[in-house]
Amino acid sequence: MGIPLKHVVIIGGGVAGLGAAFKVRRAANEGAEVTFTLLEKDPRLGGKLQTERVGDFIVDGGSDAFIAQKPSVMRVAKLAGFDQDRMPSDESRKKTLILKKGELIEMPDGVMQFAPTKFLPFATTRLFSWPGKVRAGMDLFIPKKKVKPGELNDETLESLVVRRMGREILDRLAEPLVGGVHASDPGLMSLAATFPNMLEMEQKYGCLIKGFLAQRQAAEEMKRKYPADPKNPRTFFNTFKNGMQQLPDGMADAAGREGIRTGVTATRLEKLENAWKVHLSSGDVLDADAVIIATEGWAAADLTATVDPELSALIATIPHSSSATISMGFDTDDLGFSLDAFGVLCPGVENRSLMAATYSSTKWTNRAPKGKALLRGFVGGPHNQAIMDKSDDELIAIVRSEFRSILGLNVEPVFARVYRWINGMPQYTMGHLGRVDAIEARVAGIPTLGVGGGSYRGVGIANCIESGEAAVTKVLGELGFAPLAEDTAAPAARAY
Ligand SMILES: Cc1cc2nc3c(=O)[nH]c(=O)nc-3n(C[C@H](O)[C@H](O)[C@H](O)COP(=O)(O)OP(=O)(O)OC[C@H]3O[C@@H](n4cnc5c(N)ncnc54)[C@H](O)[C@@H]3O)c2cc1C
Repeated sequence: MGIPLKHVVIIGGGVAGLGAAFKVRRAANEGAEVTFTLLEKDPRLGGKLQTERVGDFIVDGGSDAFIAQKPSVMRVAKLAGFDQDRMPSDESRKKTLILKKGELIEMPDGVMQFAPTKFLPFATTRLFSWPGKVRAGMDLFIPKKKVKPGELNDETLESLVVRRMGREILDRLAEPLVGGVHASDPGLMSLAATFPNMLEMEQKYGCLIKGFLAQRQAAEEMKRKYPADPKNPRTFFNTFKNGMQQLPDGMADAAGREGIRTGVTATRLEKLENAWKVHLSSGDVLDADAVIIATEGWAAADLTATVDPELSALIATIPHSSSATISMGFDTDDLGFSLDAFGVLCPGVENRSLMAATYSSTKWTNRAPKGKALLRGFVGGPHNQAIMDKSDDELIAIVRSEFRSILGLNVEPVFARVYRWINGMPQYTMGHLGRVDAIEARVAGIPTLGVGGGSYRGVGIANCIESGEAAVTKVLGELGFAPLAEDTAAPAARAY
Protein backbone atom coordinates (compact mmCIF):
# COMPACT_ATOMS: atom_id res chain seq x y z
CA MET A 1 0.00 0.00 0.00
CA GLY A 2 1.40 3.43 -0.95
CA ILE A 3 1.65 6.42 1.38
CA PRO A 4 -1.74 8.23 1.49
CA LEU A 5 -1.70 11.51 -0.46
CA LYS A 6 -1.65 14.67 1.65
CA HIS A 7 -4.84 16.61 1.02
CA VAL A 8 -4.88 20.43 0.79
CA VAL A 9 -8.31 22.07 0.89
CA ILE A 10 -8.34 25.48 -0.80
CA ILE A 11 -11.28 27.76 -0.04
CA GLY A 12 -12.09 30.33 -2.75
CA GLY A 13 -12.06 30.02 -6.53
CA GLY A 14 -10.70 33.45 -7.46
CA VAL A 15 -7.24 33.89 -8.95
CA ALA A 16 -5.58 33.48 -5.52
CA GLY A 17 -7.27 30.13 -4.85
CA LEU A 18 -6.68 28.93 -8.39
CA GLY A 19 -3.05 30.09 -8.21
CA ALA A 20 -2.75 27.92 -5.10
CA ALA A 21 -4.46 24.92 -6.76
CA PHE A 22 -2.24 25.14 -9.84
CA LYS A 23 0.85 25.24 -7.64
CA VAL A 24 -0.26 22.15 -5.70
CA ARG A 25 -0.70 20.46 -9.09
CA ARG A 26 2.84 21.46 -10.12
CA ALA A 27 4.16 20.03 -6.84
CA ALA A 28 2.30 16.77 -7.54
CA ASN A 29 3.71 16.75 -11.09
CA GLU A 30 7.18 16.93 -9.53
CA GLY A 31 6.40 13.83 -7.47
CA ALA A 32 5.05 15.29 -4.20
CA GLU A 33 2.40 12.95 -2.77
CA VAL A 34 -0.20 15.71 -2.52
CA THR A 35 -3.62 16.49 -3.92
CA PHE A 36 -6.15 19.30 -3.50
CA THR A 37 -9.84 20.12 -3.34
CA LEU A 38 -10.81 23.68 -4.21
CA LEU A 39 -14.18 24.91 -2.91
CA GLU A 40 -15.99 27.87 -4.48
CA LYS A 41 -19.34 28.99 -3.15
CA ASP A 42 -20.49 30.51 -6.46
CA PRO A 43 -21.57 28.33 -9.37
CA ARG A 44 -18.71 29.76 -11.45
CA LEU A 45 -14.98 30.17 -10.89
CA GLY A 46 -13.07 33.43 -11.16
CA GLY A 47 -14.25 35.61 -8.27
CA LYS A 48 -13.73 39.22 -9.37
CA LEU A 49 -12.93 38.05 -12.92
CA GLN A 50 -16.13 37.39 -14.84
CA THR A 51 -16.72 37.38 -18.58
CA GLU A 52 -20.12 36.99 -20.19
CA ARG A 53 -20.87 36.52 -23.90
CA VAL A 54 -23.88 38.59 -24.92
CA GLY A 55 -24.47 37.72 -28.57
CA ASP A 56 -21.15 38.64 -30.22
CA PHE A 57 -20.16 41.00 -27.39
CA ILE A 58 -17.49 39.90 -24.89
CA VAL A 59 -18.39 41.61 -21.62
CA ASP A 60 -16.09 41.78 -18.60
CA GLY A 61 -18.10 42.47 -15.47
CA GLY A 62 -15.21 42.69 -13.00
CA SER A 63 -11.48 43.14 -13.68
CA ASP A 64 -10.93 44.13 -17.27
CA ALA A 65 -7.12 44.21 -17.48
CA PHE A 66 -3.87 42.92 -16.09
CA ILE A 67 -0.56 44.69 -15.98
CA ALA A 68 2.21 42.66 -17.62
CA GLN A 69 4.96 44.54 -15.72
CA LYS A 70 4.14 42.17 -12.87
CA PRO A 71 5.06 38.83 -14.40
CA SER A 72 2.83 36.34 -12.54
CA VAL A 73 -0.15 36.46 -14.89
CA MET A 74 1.90 35.71 -18.00
CA ARG A 75 4.00 33.22 -16.04
CA VAL A 76 0.96 31.09 -15.10
CA ALA A 77 -0.55 31.60 -18.57
CA LYS A 78 2.66 30.25 -20.08
CA LEU A 79 2.88 27.33 -17.66
CA ALA A 80 -0.77 26.53 -18.37
CA GLY A 81 -0.32 26.93 -22.14
CA PHE A 82 -2.54 29.88 -23.04
CA ASP A 83 -0.04 32.76 -23.04
CA GLN A 84 -0.50 33.12 -26.82
CA ASP A 85 -4.00 34.44 -26.07
CA ARG A 86 -2.75 37.60 -24.34
CA MET A 87 -4.36 40.60 -26.00
CA PRO A 88 -2.69 44.02 -25.73
CA SER A 89 -4.82 47.15 -25.53
CA ASP A 90 -5.10 49.19 -28.74
CA GLU A 91 -2.40 51.78 -27.94
CA SER A 92 -3.17 53.84 -31.06
CA ARG A 93 -6.33 55.03 -29.27
CA LYS A 94 -4.93 55.31 -25.74
CA LYS A 95 -6.38 58.57 -24.55
CA THR A 96 -7.95 59.34 -21.18
CA LEU A 97 -10.60 62.04 -20.90
CA ILE A 98 -11.20 63.81 -17.61
CA LEU A 99 -14.44 65.55 -16.78
CA LYS A 100 -14.12 69.17 -15.69
CA LYS A 101 -17.24 71.25 -15.10
CA GLY A 102 -19.17 69.29 -17.70
CA GLU A 103 -16.39 69.36 -20.32
CA LEU A 104 -14.19 66.39 -21.32
CA ILE A 105 -10.51 67.32 -21.39
CA GLU A 106 -7.79 64.97 -22.57
CA MET A 107 -5.24 64.04 -19.91
CA PRO A 108 -2.03 65.88 -20.86
CA ASP A 109 0.71 63.80 -22.49
CA GLY A 110 3.55 62.86 -20.14
CA VAL A 111 1.48 62.50 -16.96
CA MET A 112 2.80 59.58 -14.90
CA GLN A 113 0.31 58.51 -12.19
CA PHE A 114 -0.52 62.18 -11.49
CA ALA A 115 2.81 63.96 -12.00
CA PRO A 116 3.61 65.95 -15.15
CA THR A 117 6.85 64.88 -16.84
CA LYS A 118 6.44 66.96 -20.05
CA PHE A 119 6.35 70.72 -19.72
CA LEU A 120 4.41 71.92 -22.77
CA PRO A 121 1.35 69.61 -22.58
CA PHE A 122 1.04 70.42 -18.86
CA ALA A 123 1.50 74.16 -19.34
CA THR A 124 -1.14 74.33 -22.09
CA THR A 125 -3.84 71.97 -20.72
CA ARG A 126 -7.18 73.44 -19.61
CA LEU A 127 -7.45 70.76 -16.95
CA PHE A 128 -5.77 72.98 -14.33
CA SER A 129 -5.87 76.68 -13.51
CA TRP A 130 -2.63 78.71 -13.70
CA PRO A 131 -2.35 78.89 -9.89
CA GLY A 132 -2.87 75.11 -9.84
CA LYS A 133 -0.07 74.58 -12.38
CA VAL A 134 2.32 76.87 -10.51
CA ARG A 135 1.50 75.08 -7.26
CA ALA A 136 2.22 71.71 -8.91
CA GLY A 137 5.60 73.02 -10.10
CA MET A 138 6.52 73.92 -6.52
CA ASP A 139 7.10 70.18 -6.05
CA LEU A 140 10.55 70.86 -7.54
CA PHE A 141 11.47 73.19 -4.66
CA ILE A 142 9.66 71.86 -1.56
CA PRO A 143 12.14 69.97 0.67
CA LYS A 144 11.53 66.26 1.06
CA LYS A 145 9.79 64.89 4.13
CA LYS A 146 12.14 63.90 6.96
CA VAL A 147 11.84 60.22 7.85
CA LYS A 148 13.55 59.02 11.03
CA PRO A 149 15.74 55.91 10.68
CA GLY A 150 13.68 52.78 11.32
CA GLU A 151 10.37 54.69 11.02
CA LEU A 152 7.78 53.42 8.50
CA ASN A 153 7.44 56.10 5.83
CA ASP A 154 3.70 56.25 5.24
CA GLU A 155 1.00 58.82 4.57
CA THR A 156 -2.24 59.02 2.64
CA LEU A 157 -2.43 59.77 -1.07
CA GLU A 158 -4.18 63.04 -0.20
CA SER A 159 -1.46 64.07 2.23
CA LEU A 160 1.42 63.42 -0.19
CA VAL A 161 -0.18 65.04 -3.24
CA VAL A 162 -1.53 68.11 -1.44
CA ARG A 163 1.77 68.59 0.41
CA ARG A 164 3.90 68.40 -2.72
CA MET A 165 1.69 69.50 -5.64
CA GLY A 166 -1.44 71.10 -4.23
CA ARG A 167 -5.12 70.25 -3.96
CA GLU A 168 -5.98 70.84 -7.60
CA ILE A 169 -3.67 68.01 -8.72
CA LEU A 170 -5.26 65.78 -6.09
CA ASP A 171 -8.83 66.64 -7.09
CA ARG A 172 -8.43 66.65 -10.86
CA LEU A 173 -5.86 63.87 -11.40
CA ALA A 174 -4.61 61.85 -8.43
CA GLU A 175 -8.01 61.11 -6.90
CA PRO A 176 -9.68 59.81 -10.09
CA LEU A 177 -6.53 58.17 -11.52
CA VAL A 178 -4.78 56.68 -8.51
CA GLY A 179 -7.56 56.49 -5.90
CA GLY A 180 -9.90 55.19 -8.63
CA VAL A 181 -7.74 52.11 -9.29
CA HIS A 182 -8.34 51.02 -5.70
CA ALA A 183 -11.88 52.49 -5.49
CA SER A 184 -10.40 54.15 -2.40
CA ASP A 185 -10.76 57.37 -0.47
CA PRO A 186 -7.47 59.28 -1.02
CA GLY A 187 -7.79 60.73 2.47
CA LEU A 188 -7.58 57.23 4.00
CA MET A 189 -5.49 55.28 1.49
CA SER A 190 -2.06 54.19 2.77
CA LEU A 191 0.65 54.78 0.17
CA ALA A 192 3.08 52.41 1.87
CA ALA A 193 0.52 49.64 1.21
CA THR A 194 -0.50 50.68 -2.32
CA PHE A 195 2.10 52.83 -4.09
CA PRO A 196 5.29 52.74 -1.97
CA ASN A 197 7.23 53.85 -5.07
CA MET A 198 5.83 57.37 -4.64
CA LEU A 199 7.18 57.64 -1.10
CA GLU A 200 10.53 56.18 -2.16
CA MET A 201 10.75 58.61 -5.07
CA GLU A 202 10.42 61.63 -2.81
CA GLN A 203 13.23 60.31 -0.63
CA LYS A 204 15.49 59.42 -3.57
CA TYR A 205 14.94 62.38 -5.91
CA GLY A 206 13.80 65.01 -3.43
CA CYS A 207 10.53 65.50 -5.32
CA LEU A 208 7.96 63.58 -7.35
CA ILE A 209 8.36 65.27 -10.74
CA LYS A 210 12.05 64.33 -10.96
CA GLY A 211 11.27 60.81 -9.74
CA PHE A 212 8.56 60.20 -12.33
CA LEU A 213 10.72 61.81 -15.03
CA ALA A 214 13.53 59.36 -14.22
CA GLN A 215 11.00 56.51 -14.35
CA ARG A 216 9.72 57.67 -17.76
CA GLN A 217 13.24 58.01 -19.14
CA ALA A 218 14.22 54.55 -17.85
CA ALA A 219 11.13 53.05 -19.53
CA GLU A 220 11.96 54.82 -22.82
CA GLU A 221 15.56 53.59 -22.62
CA MET A 222 14.32 50.00 -22.10
CA LYS A 223 12.06 50.35 -25.15
CA ARG A 224 15.02 51.58 -27.24
CA LYS A 225 17.30 48.80 -26.01
CA TYR A 226 14.77 46.01 -26.32
CA PRO A 227 12.32 47.01 -29.07
CA ALA A 228 9.11 44.97 -28.89
CA ASP A 229 8.00 42.65 -31.66
CA PRO A 230 5.26 44.68 -33.45
CA LYS A 231 3.16 41.48 -33.64
CA ASN A 232 3.45 41.08 -29.86
CA PRO A 233 3.57 44.64 -28.49
CA ARG A 234 4.39 45.35 -24.84
CA THR A 235 1.50 47.33 -23.44
CA PHE A 236 0.62 48.53 -19.97
CA PHE A 237 -2.93 47.13 -20.13
CA ASN A 238 -3.48 43.55 -21.26
CA THR A 239 -6.30 41.06 -21.36
CA PHE A 240 -7.06 37.68 -22.95
CA LYS A 241 -8.81 37.15 -26.26
CA ASN A 242 -11.87 35.53 -24.71
CA GLY A 243 -12.06 37.99 -21.81
CA MET A 244 -10.49 37.95 -18.35
CA GLN A 245 -12.41 34.79 -17.41
CA GLN A 246 -9.95 32.94 -19.65
CA LEU A 247 -7.36 33.32 -16.87
CA PRO A 248 -9.24 31.48 -14.07
CA ASP A 249 -10.61 28.97 -16.59
CA GLY A 250 -7.13 28.23 -17.96
CA MET A 251 -5.71 27.93 -14.44
CA ALA A 252 -8.54 25.57 -13.43
CA ASP A 253 -7.89 23.35 -16.48
CA ALA A 254 -4.18 23.25 -15.68
CA ALA A 255 -4.79 22.54 -11.98
CA GLY A 256 -7.26 19.76 -12.79
CA ARG A 257 -11.04 20.23 -12.77
CA GLU A 258 -11.51 16.93 -10.90
CA GLY A 259 -10.29 18.68 -7.72
CA ILE A 260 -12.63 21.65 -8.06
CA ARG A 261 -16.12 21.90 -6.53
CA THR A 262 -18.28 24.94 -7.32
CA GLY A 263 -21.52 25.90 -5.60
CA VAL A 264 -20.10 24.65 -2.27
CA THR A 265 -19.48 26.97 0.70
CA ALA A 266 -16.98 26.16 3.44
CA THR A 267 -18.96 27.04 6.55
CA ARG A 268 -16.62 26.14 9.42
CA LEU A 269 -13.05 25.01 10.08
CA GLU A 270 -12.06 22.62 12.82
CA LYS A 271 -8.38 22.34 13.71
CA LEU A 272 -7.37 18.92 15.08
CA GLU A 273 -3.96 17.89 16.40
CA ASN A 274 -2.37 17.28 12.96
CA ALA A 275 -5.28 17.69 10.59
CA TRP A 276 -8.37 19.70 9.72
CA LYS A 277 -12.07 19.15 9.22
CA VAL A 278 -13.72 21.48 6.73
CA HIS A 279 -17.50 21.69 7.16
CA LEU A 280 -19.47 22.38 3.99
CA SER A 281 -22.85 23.93 3.21
CA SER A 282 -23.92 20.55 1.83
CA GLY A 283 -23.52 19.04 5.31
CA ASP A 284 -20.44 17.06 4.20
CA VAL A 285 -17.18 17.30 6.14
CA LEU A 286 -13.85 17.13 4.30
CA ASP A 287 -10.70 15.80 5.98
CA ALA A 288 -7.62 17.87 5.18
CA ASP A 289 -3.95 17.89 6.05
CA ALA A 290 -3.69 21.60 5.25
CA VAL A 291 -6.13 24.43 4.56
CA ILE A 292 -5.64 27.53 2.42
CA ILE A 293 -8.15 30.35 2.81
CA ALA A 294 -8.20 32.43 -0.40
CA THR A 295 -11.46 34.30 0.09
CA GLU A 296 -12.25 37.97 0.55
CA GLY A 297 -10.95 39.27 3.92
CA TRP A 298 -14.38 39.38 5.58
CA ALA A 299 -15.04 35.73 4.64
CA ALA A 300 -11.56 34.77 5.92
CA ALA A 301 -12.40 36.52 9.22
CA ASP A 302 -15.52 34.31 9.54
CA LEU A 303 -13.63 31.13 8.67
CA THR A 304 -10.76 31.73 11.10
CA ALA A 305 -13.08 32.59 14.02
CA THR A 306 -13.12 28.97 15.22
CA VAL A 307 -9.38 28.50 14.65
CA ASP A 308 -7.83 31.64 16.15
CA PRO A 309 -10.22 34.40 17.30
CA GLU A 310 -7.33 36.90 17.46
CA LEU A 311 -6.41 36.23 13.84
CA SER A 312 -10.07 36.52 12.88
CA ALA A 313 -10.38 39.87 14.68
CA LEU A 314 -7.25 41.18 12.94
CA ILE A 315 -8.52 40.22 9.47
CA ALA A 316 -11.92 41.73 10.27
CA THR A 317 -10.30 45.17 10.69
CA ILE A 318 -9.62 45.40 6.92
CA PRO A 319 -12.53 47.38 5.46
CA HIS A 320 -14.04 46.60 2.05
CA SER A 321 -16.17 48.76 -0.25
CA SER A 322 -18.79 47.85 -2.84
CA SER A 323 -19.06 48.87 -6.47
CA ALA A 324 -20.88 47.91 -9.65
CA THR A 325 -20.11 47.95 -13.35
CA ILE A 326 -22.86 48.51 -15.88
CA SER A 327 -22.01 47.44 -19.43
CA MET A 328 -24.09 48.44 -22.44
CA GLY A 329 -23.88 47.69 -26.14
CA PHE A 330 -24.77 50.31 -28.75
CA ASP A 331 -25.04 50.64 -32.52
CA THR A 332 -22.20 52.91 -33.58
CA ASP A 333 -24.51 54.78 -36.02
CA ASP A 334 -25.80 57.97 -34.39
CA LEU A 335 -23.65 57.58 -31.30
CA GLY A 336 -23.06 61.31 -31.35
CA PHE A 337 -19.52 61.27 -29.89
CA SER A 338 -16.07 59.95 -30.79
CA LEU A 339 -15.05 56.55 -29.43
CA ASP A 340 -11.39 57.45 -29.94
CA ALA A 341 -10.30 57.07 -26.29
CA PHE A 342 -10.02 54.41 -23.59
CA GLY A 343 -12.57 56.21 -21.48
CA VAL A 344 -13.57 58.96 -19.10
CA LEU A 345 -12.72 59.67 -15.46
CA CYS A 346 -15.13 61.67 -13.31
CA PRO A 347 -13.27 63.24 -10.36
CA GLY A 348 -15.17 63.20 -7.05
CA VAL A 349 -15.28 67.03 -7.06
CA GLU A 350 -17.61 66.81 -10.08
CA ASN A 351 -20.21 65.15 -7.82
CA ARG A 352 -21.41 62.65 -10.40
CA SER A 353 -22.88 59.20 -9.83
CA LEU A 354 -20.50 57.87 -12.49
CA MET A 355 -16.90 57.36 -11.29
CA ALA A 356 -15.55 56.30 -14.67
CA ALA A 357 -16.55 55.00 -18.07
CA THR A 358 -14.50 52.62 -20.20
CA TYR A 359 -14.89 52.49 -23.97
CA SER A 360 -14.32 48.71 -23.77
CA SER A 361 -14.50 48.04 -27.52
CA THR A 362 -11.92 50.77 -28.19
CA LYS A 363 -9.51 49.51 -25.54
CA TRP A 364 -9.98 45.88 -26.67
CA THR A 365 -10.76 45.63 -30.38
CA ASN A 366 -12.72 42.34 -30.29
CA ARG A 367 -15.18 43.19 -27.50
CA ALA A 368 -18.01 44.28 -29.81
CA PRO A 369 -19.08 43.04 -33.26
CA LYS A 370 -18.69 45.28 -36.31
CA GLY A 371 -20.93 48.33 -36.22
CA LYS A 372 -21.41 48.08 -32.44
CA ALA A 373 -19.67 49.56 -29.39
CA LEU A 374 -19.36 48.32 -25.81
CA LEU A 375 -19.28 50.91 -23.01
CA ARG A 376 -18.96 50.25 -19.29
CA GLY A 377 -19.86 52.55 -16.42
CA PHE A 378 -18.38 52.22 -12.93
CA VAL A 379 -20.34 53.32 -9.84
CA GLY A 380 -20.06 52.97 -6.06
CA GLY A 381 -16.77 53.28 -4.18
CA PRO A 382 -16.32 54.57 -0.64
CA HIS A 383 -18.07 57.92 -1.29
CA ASN A 384 -21.21 56.48 -2.81
CA GLN A 385 -22.15 53.22 -1.11
CA ALA A 386 -25.82 54.28 -1.09
CA ILE A 387 -26.06 53.72 -4.85
CA MET A 388 -25.61 49.99 -4.24
CA ASP A 389 -29.18 49.90 -2.82
CA LYS A 390 -30.59 50.74 -6.26
CA SER A 391 -32.17 48.01 -8.38
CA ASP A 392 -30.51 46.90 -11.61
CA ASP A 393 -33.03 48.90 -13.67
CA GLU A 394 -32.31 51.99 -11.59
CA LEU A 395 -28.52 51.56 -12.01
CA ILE A 396 -28.95 51.22 -15.78
CA ALA A 397 -31.11 54.35 -15.84
CA ILE A 398 -28.54 56.29 -13.76
CA VAL A 399 -25.64 55.30 -16.03
CA ARG A 400 -27.66 56.04 -19.18
CA SER A 401 -28.49 59.48 -17.79
CA GLU A 402 -24.79 60.07 -16.99
CA PHE A 403 -23.76 58.91 -20.50
CA ARG A 404 -26.39 61.30 -21.93
CA SER A 405 -25.18 64.31 -19.97
CA ILE A 406 -21.41 63.61 -20.10
CA LEU A 407 -21.00 62.03 -23.56
CA GLY A 408 -24.14 63.26 -25.33
CA LEU A 409 -25.19 59.64 -25.88
CA ASN A 410 -28.93 59.56 -26.53
CA VAL A 411 -29.49 56.24 -28.29
CA GLU A 412 -31.06 53.13 -26.74
CA PRO A 413 -28.60 50.37 -25.80
CA VAL A 414 -28.98 47.04 -27.59
CA PHE A 415 -28.42 45.36 -24.20
CA ALA A 416 -27.41 46.30 -20.65
CA ARG A 417 -25.93 44.18 -17.86
CA VAL A 418 -25.21 45.00 -14.20
CA TYR A 419 -22.42 43.32 -12.21
CA ARG A 420 -22.34 43.97 -8.47
CA TRP A 421 -19.22 43.59 -6.32
CA ILE A 422 -20.55 43.72 -2.78
CA ASN A 423 -17.68 44.31 -0.33
CA GLY A 424 -15.53 43.40 -3.31
CA MET A 425 -12.71 45.91 -2.93
CA PRO A 426 -10.45 45.82 0.14
CA GLN A 427 -9.43 49.25 1.40
CA TYR A 428 -5.76 49.58 2.28
CA THR A 429 -6.15 52.33 4.86
CA MET A 430 -3.37 53.81 7.04
CA GLY A 431 -1.88 51.10 9.24
CA HIS A 432 -2.68 48.37 6.68
CA LEU A 433 0.88 47.06 6.47
CA GLY A 434 1.11 46.74 10.25
CA ARG A 435 -2.19 44.84 10.29
CA VAL A 436 -0.98 42.48 7.54
CA ASP A 437 2.34 41.91 9.36
CA ALA A 438 0.35 40.94 12.46
CA ILE A 439 -1.96 38.67 10.41
CA GLU A 440 1.02 36.95 8.78
CA ALA A 441 2.73 36.49 12.15
CA ARG A 442 -0.39 34.75 13.52
CA VAL A 443 -0.74 32.58 10.40
CA ALA A 444 2.96 31.64 10.69
CA GLY A 445 2.17 30.29 14.15
CA ILE A 446 -0.58 27.98 12.87
CA PRO A 447 1.06 25.08 11.01
CA THR A 448 -0.65 23.87 7.81
CA LEU A 449 -2.82 27.01 7.51
CA GLY A 450 -2.26 29.36 4.56
CA VAL A 451 -4.05 32.63 3.84
CA GLY A 452 -3.97 34.52 0.54
CA GLY A 453 -5.98 36.90 -1.64
CA GLY A 454 -6.46 40.53 -2.52
CA SER A 455 -7.17 41.78 0.99
CA TYR A 456 -3.53 41.71 2.15
CA ARG A 457 -0.54 42.62 -0.04
CA GLY A 458 -1.92 43.91 -3.32
CA VAL A 459 -5.33 43.89 -4.99
CA GLY A 460 -3.88 43.44 -8.50
CA ILE A 461 -4.44 40.07 -10.15
CA ALA A 462 -0.70 39.31 -10.25
CA ASN A 463 -0.34 39.99 -6.50
CA CYS A 464 -3.32 37.75 -5.74
CA ILE A 465 -1.87 34.83 -7.74
CA GLU A 466 1.45 35.24 -5.91
CA SER A 467 -0.27 35.29 -2.52
CA GLY A 468 -2.05 32.00 -3.29
CA GLU A 469 1.24 30.46 -4.40
CA ALA A 470 3.03 31.70 -1.26
CA ALA A 471 0.35 30.05 0.90
CA VAL A 472 1.10 26.75 -0.88
CA THR A 473 4.84 27.15 -0.29
CA LYS A 474 4.12 27.61 3.44
CA VAL A 475 1.83 24.62 3.91
CA LEU A 476 3.78 22.20 1.70
CA GLY A 477 6.95 23.04 3.65
CA GLU A 478 5.09 22.36 6.90
CA LEU A 479 3.82 19.05 5.50
CA GLY A 480 7.45 18.10 4.90
CA PHE A 481 7.67 18.49 1.14
CA ALA A 482 10.80 19.85 -0.55
CA PRO A 483 10.52 23.22 -2.33
CA LEU A 484 9.50 23.05 -6.00
CA ALA A 485 12.23 23.25 -8.62
CA GLU A 486 10.69 26.53 -9.88
CA ASP A 487 11.30 28.08 -6.44
CA THR A 488 14.92 27.05 -6.16
CA ALA A 489 16.07 27.45 -9.79
CA ALA A 490 18.13 30.49 -10.74
CA PRO A 491 15.79 33.02 -12.40
CA ALA A 492 17.34 32.55 -15.86
CA ALA A 493 16.74 28.79 -15.69
CA ARG A 494 13.06 29.11 -14.81
CA ALA A 495 10.43 27.99 -17.29
CA TYR A 496 9.10 31.50 -17.85
C1 LIG B 1 -14.98 45.89 -10.27
C2 LIG B 1 -13.54 45.48 -10.08
C3 LIG B 1 -12.61 45.76 -11.08
C4 LIG B 1 -11.28 45.38 -10.92
N1 LIG B 1 -10.40 45.63 -11.94
C5 LIG B 1 -9.14 45.14 -11.86
C6 LIG B 1 -8.27 45.21 -12.99
O1 LIG B 1 -8.66 45.68 -14.08
N2 LIG B 1 -7.01 44.70 -12.85
C7 LIG B 1 -6.57 44.14 -11.67
O2 LIG B 1 -5.41 43.69 -11.60
N3 LIG B 1 -7.40 44.04 -10.59
C8 LIG B 1 -8.66 44.51 -10.67
N4 LIG B 1 -9.51 44.36 -9.61
C9 LIG B 1 -9.02 43.66 -8.40
C10 LIG B 1 -8.89 42.16 -8.62
O3 LIG B 1 -9.84 41.70 -9.57
C11 LIG B 1 -9.11 41.38 -7.33
O4 LIG B 1 -8.30 41.94 -6.29
C12 LIG B 1 -8.75 39.91 -7.47
O5 LIG B 1 -9.40 39.33 -8.58
C13 LIG B 1 -9.11 39.18 -6.18
O6 LIG B 1 -8.81 37.82 -6.34
P1 LIG B 1 -8.91 36.84 -5.10
O7 LIG B 1 -8.72 35.46 -5.60
O8 LIG B 1 -8.03 37.32 -4.01
O9 LIG B 1 -10.39 37.03 -4.53
P2 LIG B 1 -11.80 36.88 -5.20
O10 LIG B 1 -11.75 37.05 -6.66
O11 LIG B 1 -12.68 37.76 -4.38
O12 LIG B 1 -12.15 35.34 -4.93
C14 LIG B 1 -12.54 34.89 -3.65
C15 LIG B 1 -13.55 33.78 -3.87
O13 LIG B 1 -13.84 33.14 -2.63
C16 LIG B 1 -15.18 32.71 -2.69
N5 LIG B 1 -15.61 32.44 -1.30
C17 LIG B 1 -15.77 33.35 -0.30
N6 LIG B 1 -16.14 32.71 0.83
C18 LIG B 1 -16.20 31.39 0.54
C19 LIG B 1 -16.53 30.23 1.31
N7 LIG B 1 -16.83 30.32 2.61
N8 LIG B 1 -16.52 29.02 0.70
C20 LIG B 1 -16.20 28.91 -0.62
N9 LIG B 1 -15.89 29.99 -1.41
C21 LIG B 1 -15.88 31.21 -0.81
C22 LIG B 1 -15.89 33.88 -3.34
O14 LIG B 1 -17.14 33.50 -3.87
C23 LIG B 1 -14.88 34.30 -4.41
O15 LIG B 1 -15.14 33.67 -5.66
C24 LIG B 1 -10.86 44.72 -9.73
C25 LIG B 1 -11.78 44.46 -8.72
C26 LIG B 1 -13.12 44.82 -8.88
C27 LIG B 1 -14.10 44.49 -7.80
